[in-house]
Amino acid sequence: MRETVLITGASRGIGYATAELFAVNGYTVYANYRSSPKSLELLSEKLSERGCTLIPLYADVSNSNDVEHMVSQTNGVDILINNAGIAQFKQFVDMSETDWDNMMSVNLKSVYLCTHCVIPHMIKRKHGAIVNISSVWGVTGGSCEVHYSAAKAGVIGFTKALAKEMAPSGIRVNCIAPGVIETDMNKELSDYDRQLIKEQTPLGTIGLPDHIAQAALFLAENQFITGEILNVNGGFHI
Ligand code: NAP
Repeated sequence: MRETVLITGASRGIGYATAELFAVNGYTVYANYRSSPKSLELLSEKLSERGCTLIPLYADVSNSNDVEHMVSQTNGVDILINNAGIAQFKQFVDMSETDWDNMMSVNLKSVYLCTHCVIPHMIKRKHGAIVNISSVWGVTGGSCEVHYSAAKAGVIGFTKALAKEMAPSGIRVNCIAPGVIETDMNKELSDYDRQLIKEQTPLGTIGLPDHIAQAALFLAENQFITGEILNVNGGFHI
C-alpha cells in the first residue's frame, strides 16, 4: 500500500513543488487547491504517465465545511503538509481588523482545521506525520508583516505543543521556517529588494520551492524527529 499525503495550497509555489516531489517518491498525493484546479490537473496527467498518483481536491482551508468535505474524499491520510498561506505587506498602523482576521484564518486557523480533521485517523492507526510551513518571520518577526509574523509564530507554538501531545500516539509534528523563496508570494519584490535579500543571505541567493519540498519530505520520513523547527533560509538569520 502506498502512503498517502495531503498537501494544502498545492496549486502553485512551494505546495506544487512538494506535491510533485512526494508523487515521484511513490506517495499517493491529495493536492489541495482553492482558486483553480488547472495546474494540478496538468501535473496529475504528467505524473500518471510515470505511474505516479496525484488527486486535486478543492477547499478553502480557512472554511471548516470545505476542509471536512476535502478530508472525507481521502479515506484518511498518513501525512499532512499544512502549506497554504497568504502574505500582506502593510504598516501596523494601517492594519485593519479584517486584515488581521483574514491572515489568522488562512495562515493559522487552517492549520488547526486541517490537522483536527485528519488526526483521528492517524491516532487510530498510531501512525502519522504532520509538517507545518511557518516562515523565518515567525521566528525573527518581519517589519510591516506583524499579522503574518504573529500567525507564523503561532504555527511554531502549535507544532511544539501538538508534537508533545501526539508523540505517545505515534504521530510526529514538525515545522519548516522558510526564508525568502522564489514564488508568486514574492513577485512584487523590486530588483533592489532582491539584491538586498541576497546580500543579507550568507549563501547569496533566494531559495527555490524545491528546497522546501526536500525539507518537507525529509521531515515526513525521518522517524526520530518531532517538535522540530527546521530553518531553510540560506543562513538568513544566523
Ligand atoms: P504562493 O506561491 O502565493 O502560493 C500560495 C498557495 O496557497 C496557493 O496554492 C494558494 O492557492 C494557496 N492558498 C492561499 N489561500 C488559501 C486558502 N484559503 N485555501 C486553500 N489554499 C489557499 O505562496 P508560497 O510562497 O508557495 O507559500 C507557501 C507557504 O510557504 C505559505 O504558507 C507561506 O506563508 C510560506 N512561506 C513562503 C515564503 C516565500 O518566500 N515564498 C517564505 C516563508 C514562508 P490559490 O492559488 O488557489 O489561491
